[in-house]
Amino acid sequence: MKGLCVLGATGSIGVSTLDVAARHPDKYKIIALSANSQVDRLIEQCEKFKPEYAVVVNETAASEFAEKIKSKNLSVQVLSGNAGLVTIASLPQVDYVMAAIVGAAGLESSLAAARAGKRILLANKEALVMSGQLFMDEVKKNNAELLPIDSEHNAIFQCLPEHYEKDLTASGITKILLTGSGGPFRTKAANELENVTPDQACAHPNWSMGRKISVDSATMMNKGLEIIEACWLFNTSPDDIQVVVHPQSVIHSMVQYSDGSVLAQLGQPDMRTPIAHALSWPERISSGVEKLDLFSIAQLEFEQPDYERFPCLRLAEESIRKGGTAPAILNAANEVAVASFLDKQLKFTDIAYIVEKTLLNLKSRPANTLTDILEDDLAARKEAEQLIQSRVKQD
Ligand code: NDP
Ligand code: MG
Repeated sequence: MKGLCVLGATGSIGVSTLDVAARHPDKYKIIALSANSQVDRLIEQCEKFKPEYAVVVNETAASEFAEKIKSKNLSVQVLSGNAGLVTIASLPQVDYVMAAIVGAAGLESSLAAARAGKRILLANKEALVMSGQLFMDEVKKNNAELLPIDSEHNAIFQCLPEHYEKDLTASGITKILLTGSGGPFRTKAANELENVTPDQACAHPNWSMGRKISVDSATMMNKGLEIIEACWLFNTSPDDIQVVVHPQSVIHSMVQYSDGSVLAQLGQPDMRTPIAHALSWPERISSGVEKLDLFSIAQLEFEQPDYERFPCLRLAEESIRKGGTAPAILNAANEVAVASFLDKQLKFTDIAYIVEKTLLNLKSRPANTLTDILEDDLAARKEAEQLIQSRVKQD
């Protein structure tokens, strides 16, 4: 029986994780759940899974949650704030931590799981983008296990040799083929992108996800963040990663070997597959995902990515080549710009503009400590906010 802590339980990945865990009550015991402010959804989850701990990060929502829990006679210990997240990610009775908080807000708790030597099921790619080297060092130092949930990275992991440890070359690998659907605007002309709405951007053709990652998919910043994520997870560089646009999202990524073999992982676009894989690895469990019917899919297509219409891809690649805190700056500016777009303050095409300007205006530095990273994250947020204000005034 493995003790499971789900950070970001009320989100898209969190809900899918609980769905898979509920299919195997003999294998996984829910020890702790967290939310930011969706109190009612978290209460329902507490009623169903009876965790020992629940964390509500937002302080006001936490008081409301505590009141409601009391009136329901549920015996769950309620914590709040980031400190609460760090506590539940490090509990001795927790074996596995699902890191499914969105954005930089998940960094410290994901790192705490690494420091406590847990199996980390990493959905929160922003944590790795921000703190890559530091994160990987903590995993190694504390004998933690890092298993990717992001469908592409989970696919790559499944296509790598069993004892992949060092790097691509040592394993006879010539390239990682990182697939992406191309998002909802794959075929939209450049001049039509300016006025797309948040709802259009969030209407992903194949995946149902939280709003932030949906916008990232639409700008292809998601693929950019995934290039960075792959560099850290598989100890490689953007030179060895080829983005392949694959509109059907059936192949979740591929690994090309020196003998000409290309291994791919295929499946339904349903995150319960990578979640079940990482929960049960190296074994396999059922996930509730429908079988893949190749006859109904019939065709698989592949295209080159368009770096002109989707400049976020280039920005992400440039930032990982630059290294240090540059990816953290990219990520922070992107989070601010996406929030502003979702708030209807900023045009879709201005997301890339804000990220590029922020990267130009700020000087990155080596990411030696968490403080370096968090300081540059904060500076980038301030810079991006200011740039957005002056952009809004211009219009
Ligand atoms: P959602 O927006 O659906 O869920 C986010 C979760 O994080 C919620 O539980 C939310 O709580 C919590 N949260 C939000 N803000 C904070 C905060 N400031 N502090 C603490 N907790 C917070 O996101 P997704 O599930 O779609 O994505 C989660 C992560 O997984 C992201 O990093 C994303 O990139 C990654 N991912 C997601 C995929 C998907 O299919 N959805 C695929 C691959 C990766 P509340 O509900 O209370 O707001
Ligand atoms: Mg992905």
